[in-house]
Amino acid sequence: MSKSEDDQKFMRKAIELGRRAGIDEQSGGVFGAIVVDKKGNVIGEGYNQVVKHNDPTWHGEMQAIREAGKKIGSPHLDGCTLYTTGEPCPMCLCAAYWAHLDRIVYGASVEDAKEYGDFDDKYYFEQINKKAKDREIPCEQCLRDEVVKVWKEFAALENPVHY
Ligand SMILES: [Zn+2]
Repeated sequence: MSKSEDDQKFMRKAIELGRRAGIDEQSGGVFGAIVVDKKGNVIGEGYNQVVKHNDPTWHGEMQAIREAGKKIGSPHLDGCTLYTTGEPCPMCLCAAYWAHLDRIVYGASVEDAKEYGDFDDKYYFEQINKKAKDREIPCEQCLRDEVVKVWKEFAALENPVHY
């Protein structure tokens, strides 16, 4: 199979999961995602379950990334591709970076999500791009020196965990 045929096969799997979320189970928005390793094995699956679990972080991509990390025993998914039915929101996009994913393949765009699902990711992208003082949710600093004191202790450890 060519790469684009593989992409279509994996995207159809993500679309099935999206259908499960939004239509069959109505567990959340109509979004699904999978993580595929470089050999073509599906190592993580996810679908939106925000409503089912009252968890705003339960996007399909987040679940697929969590499952994949557990499966391979590493927080880093180098060499893997994330397939997701919708262009990732800022949370999931950042999770993809934290996970060191090699590639993201998405179905519909952020603009499509607004037009066909009334999902307004644009707002979140706008907020992320603002300076802390200009964001709608106030971000205030507190006890910086006490925090840095603990960080210095951490940095002095023999093997500080840098994940
Ligand atoms: Zn997301």
